[in-house]
This record gives sequence, structure tokens and C-alpha cells, in this order.
Amino acid sequence: MAGKVYLVGAGPGDPGLITVRGLACLRRAELVIADHLVNPALLDEAPLAAEVIVRPERRSGPYGAQEEINRLLVERGRSQLVVRLKGGDPFVFGRGGEEAEALAAANIAFEVVPGVTAAIAAPAYAGIPVTHRGLSGVVAFATGHEAEDPPRPGSRIDWDAVARGAGTLVLYMSVNRLGEVVRRLLAAGRSPDEPVAIVERGTLPGQRTLEATLGTIVARAAEAELRPPALTIVGEVVRLREKIAWFDRRPLFGRSILLLATRAGELAPGDEDDGAELVTVSPLQVVPRFSAIKQALGKLDELRAIALASVHAVDALFGALTALGRDARALAGIKLAAIGEATARRLEERGVTADLIATQGGAALAEEILGAGWSGPMLVARALAGREELSEALGRAGLAVTVIDAYETVADSAALGRAARRHRLRPFDAIGFASPKGARAFLEVLGATRLLDGTLLGAIGETTRAALVEAGLTVEVMPAHPELAALSSELRRALAARSKLK
Ligand code: SAH
Repeated sequence: MAGKVYLVGAGPGDPGLITVRGLACLRRAELVIADHLVNPALLDEAPLAAEVIVRPERRSGPYGAQEEINRLLVERGRSQLVVRLKGGDPFVFGRGGEEAEALAAANIAFEVVPGVTAAIAAPAYAGIPVTHRGLSGVVAFATGHEAEDPPRPGSRIDWDAVARGAGTLVLYMSVNRLGEVVRRLLAAGRSPDEPVAIVERGTLPGQRTLEATLGTIVARAAEAELRPPALTIVGEVVRLREKIAWFDRRPLFGRSILLLATRAGELAPGDEDDGAELVTVSPLQVVPRFSAIKQALGKLDELRAIALASVHAVDALFGALTALGRDARALAGIKLAAIGEATARRLEERGVTADLIATQGGAALAEEILGAGWSGPMLVARALAGREELSEALGRAGLAVTVIDAYETVADSAALGRAARRHRLRPFDAIGFASPKGARAFLEVLGATRLLDGTLLGAIGETTRAALVEAGLTVEVMPAHPELAALSSELRRALAARSKLK
């Protein structure tokens, strides 16, 4: 098959700012070559089978040199679907033009998918329109990289012309050369009183905006210890920020929440616009136990009811059905009980509807099942070493119940290690735990519970809460129903209430 290379703009940081076309290319990629500034969350969109190469920040070592990237694009683009994922827009200070030249010269098919460039997005997220009626009708994008004094031979930037010609100047790669840039603008006649803003990590949860004037910005930037990636915006439009800043004025901006749940990835981070950074980590890996289920399904045709303890139990059940060459039709006539809304939704996705949706398992569910007049034989599909209350209560009432350990969970130490390290570096403001086992695994990797002083803790339900309390912790948040989305929104509510007290 003939290959093709897509030069795709990933946007400035917020993963939601990639284009629909860019995302579609990414989802079909066989090879992804990403720049270090590209948000890693986007790489999860590539197919599992895709090869992913991330260029290092330092332009040394493997894939550091531009020539090497060009060679790789030409080599692999002949036969593979390659996505070259670049920060912002590929053709704005991204060397995308050079890559396209190399591809054109080698006769490799390519397309360019533009992206939202940092000079548009970072000011927008800081509440600064780059043009504004009555204030600025010309905007210039330049790189501060070429602001050396005296000018670098071959530098193409006529700073005098730039300074005089444009109302708004947006300067890429400018923090490390801020002194030179400002000197040149002042020398070209811009006023020392003119407003300047520097936006660091624009569109990301850690976005910082520093406001000053051309006369004061150099000292202020040094004080604030600004670091790349950052953009400098010069012009009267900076004053509008005072009125229309929005991103960093949201109630939970700057706050971070960690959700430790095997299904946390299903919560879309954009669902709540309160500004909190949501980090989701799965503390446990789920391993289906197909042979146990297949064995239990041997007598499928005699079964009258199945209770499913979780989403994972649904997945394991359907995995086993598939392995047996069966599908959802095999469940016709069998009553299904789902514990939790999410479990019921998963059944729905698989094409079957739960007859009974319980908010809690255990004895309460047994009562509901008996009250509804269900009969056996019945399967209870749950985690290995899961709770026994449901099957015991049903058994006592005379129902023939078989319990299957449909899956087991094992601690994912790599994922837990990453979450714990991030907490040690920059403590989360809130942490939500979705299972007792996941909670214990996290505490073990974290080491000392005192590292959680000052962090708001939430538990999805009673057993998880008990595990935390046993470890000597105080749990302040527990939703009325044991649902992940409810845990997440209760944590947000409690965080907001806490901020108000301060
Ligand atoms: N092609 C990219 C620019 C690459 S040059 C684009 O179109 O945006 C890298 C420079 O872009 C950085 O030094 C910084 O000046 C700017 N930049 C990239 N991401 C940024 C961000 N999230 N916030 C502020 N500036 C950013």
C-alpha cells in the first residue's frame, strides 16, 4: 500500500484544541512522530498498534536532529500512514515547511492539517484578543530567537519595521531573550509604558500570565521565574485582559484532582468547566478470568438469572461469550441484575438491558431480587475474593447460586508510581478513591500518609472509606451513590467550598 505523511498541528497544549481532521488522521496512524510540546493525552488517541516516537526536548540524541526526522518521514512515508504531530500549527515556527520540502523532493504523498497556533490560543486563554477594533488592526508574529544584539548574520527580522508596523506583537521563543527583544522594541520607538503580557504554558492547567510594561517586564519576568514554553504579547490589547480574562478566573483554576479508578479514563475531562485539572489514574489492572466464566457458562441454557457486580464483570462475561462463539442473544430469557448505573450502561452498550439496577450490592440487592420473584439457577459475576453478602443472602433464601470470580485486579505499580511522584512534587488538592484495593495500593506506593495532609480525600463508597479510615486518614467526601461521576462532582463541590473559606 502506498503511504502518506500528514503534517498535523496538535494545538498549543489543551488537547481539546486539535482539529477534527487532525484527530481523524491520528486515529488512523501507523506511525506517530510527535514533538515534545505535544500533549501526551493526544498520543492515547493513536491506535494501540501504532508506533509512537516522541522527539526529545534537547536536539541531541536519537531523533534530535531535523535531518533525521526528514529522513524518517521519507523512509516510512513510502509505505505507512505517518502522522507528524507538531505543537500549535505545523507551518508556524514549526519547521513543517522543511519537512514538506523533504517529502516533496522525495515524491512522498503528504497533506498539511493546520493547527491552532500558540500565538492565537495562549492570548485567547489569557483574555487578550490579538486584534481589537480601535486598539490594534495589525498583528505580527515573530520569533524572539533571532533577537540577538548585534544581529545574528542571516537574521531576517527587521525589528525596527516590526516595532513600527504592528499594533500587536506576539513573540514566540522569547523568554530566554526577553532583554534583547525589549531593548530592540524600545530602540525602535515603542513606549516603555506600553502594556506587555507573558503567557506561560498557555491553555494548560498550569497557565500563568504576567502583566507589566515594556519598561518593567524584564525585571518582573526574572522575579516570576518564567520558563518556556511562553509567549510575549506587546500592545494596548493586553489591557483588555482585566475585563475579559476567563480561563484563569474559573472557580477551581489551579486546583488539581486525582481520581484513582480503573474506569477513570471514561470521565471526559472537559465535562466540567470549573477549571480544575483532572488527572485520572487506574491503580489496578483488570485481568479477566475467562476459564472460570467459560466453565460457569457451560450450563448457560439452564441459567435463569445473572447478577453483575461491575463494568469489568460485564466485559469478562461478554469476552467469555465471544470465546464460546456466542453473543448477546445467548442471554435472552435470562434476568440480569446490574450493580451501579455504569454497569447497567455497559450492558446497554453490549445490546442488552438490565432488568434490575441496584445502587448497592449485598443484602439489599438480594432483597430486591427475591422481592421481584426471580428464581435460580443464578450466577453472580464479581471480582476474585469479592464480597459474599449477595450470594449468601440469596443462598439462605433457597436460590441456587453460583459465584464466579470473573476477573481479578492487580496493582499497576508503574501507574501508581507516576501518580505518587506527581503528588510528592505538586500535591493534589483532592484525591478520589474508587476501591479499597486501589486505595491501599496507592497508600503503599506513596509511603507516608502524612503526605496527604491538606489534601481533600473522597471515597466512592463505604468499604473504600473504611479502608482509608483504617489507614488513619480522614475522608471528607462520599457521594450518595457509589458512582465515579458522582464522586468527581462531590470532590469539586467540596473543593469549591474550601476555596471560599480561605
Ligand atoms: N508551531 C508552534 C510553535 C513552535 S515554537 C505553534 O504554532 O504554536 C515553540 C514556541 O511556541 C515556544 O517557545 C513558545 O513561545 C510557543 N508556545 C508553544 N506552546 C505554547 C504554550 N502552550 N504557551 C505559550 N507559548 C507556547
